[in-house]
Amino acid sequence: MANKLTDIGVNLMHRSFHGDREEVVKRADTHGVSRIVITGTSLRSSEEAARYAGQHAGKLYATAGVHPHDAKNCREDTIEKLRELAALSQVVAIGECGLDYNRNFSPRDVQRRWFTEQIRLAQELDLPLFLHERDAFADFYALVKELQVRKAVVHCFTGSQAELKAYVDLGFYIGITGWICDERRGRHLRELVRTIPLDRLMIETDAPFLTPRDLAEKPKDGRNEPAFLPHILQAVAASMGKPAEDVARATTANAERFFSL
Ligand SMILES: [Zn+2]
Repeated sequence: MANKLTDIGVNLMHRSFHGDREEVVKRADTHGVSRIVITGTSLRSSEEAARYAGQHAGKLYATAGVHPHDAKNCREDTIEKLRELAALSQVVAIGECGLDYNRNFSPRDVQRRWFTEQIRLAQELDLPLFLHERDAFADFYALVKELQVRKAVVHCFTGSQAELKAYVDLGFYIGITGWICDERRGRHLRELVRTIPLDRLMIETDAPFLTPRDLAEKPKDGRNEPAFLPHILQAVAASMGKPAEDVARATTANAERFFSL
C-alpha cells in the first residue's frame, strides 16, 4: 500500500495496547499509515499520549482533552493542565470533548460545562477541536453554534443526513470510522458519505474500538488497530464511487491542513 494515510483517531494509550504499542505503530507504517493522532480522553491519557507522541516526532501526534464520559472527574485546574499540554508541539488539537447522552457516564450539565470550557480553551489557543457527539445533537449543535466554533472535526460520525448537513454548513470536518464497514449499522453511512465534500473528510480507526466487521482476516482478540485504516479507506472510497487513491490523497491533505501536521 503506497498511500501515506493519517489515522486521526487512535486510542493508543488504551490498556489493550500496553503489551505491543511499538509493534502496532510499526505495523501501521507497514500498511501505509504513516501518521497517527493519538486521542486523549482524560487528563491522564492526554498526558500519556503527549509523552508517547513526543518520542515519535513527525509520526505520532496527540490531542489533549477530556471525553464527556470523564467530565465528572474534571476539577478547577483541569483546563490549566490541558493548556500546558497544548503548548507542546506534538499536541495538535483540543479534545476528545463533546456530549454523550447515550451512556450518561457523567451528568449532562457537567458534560456541558466542561465541553464549554474546552471549546473556550481551543479558541483561546487557536487550536482545532476533536469532537464527540452521541445522542446529543440538539444540545451539542446549540453550543457549538452559540460559541461560534469554526475549526472542528466531528469524529466517528454516525448521525443523520440533517446532522451531517448542519456540521458541514458550520465548516466542520467529518471523521469516518470502520462503522461504515458494518453491513447493518453502517448502511445509512454509505449513502451519507457521498454527500461529504472531499475537502472535509478524514478517516480514523478509533482503535482499539470499532473493529471493521468485514475484515477478511479477523484479529484473534477482536482488537482494532491503525493498520486496518486502508480497509476503511477502501470502504469509504467504494461508497463515494471514487478511486481509493483520490480519497487517500484528499483525506491526508485534509489532516495535514486541519491539524497543521
Ligand atoms: Zn468518541
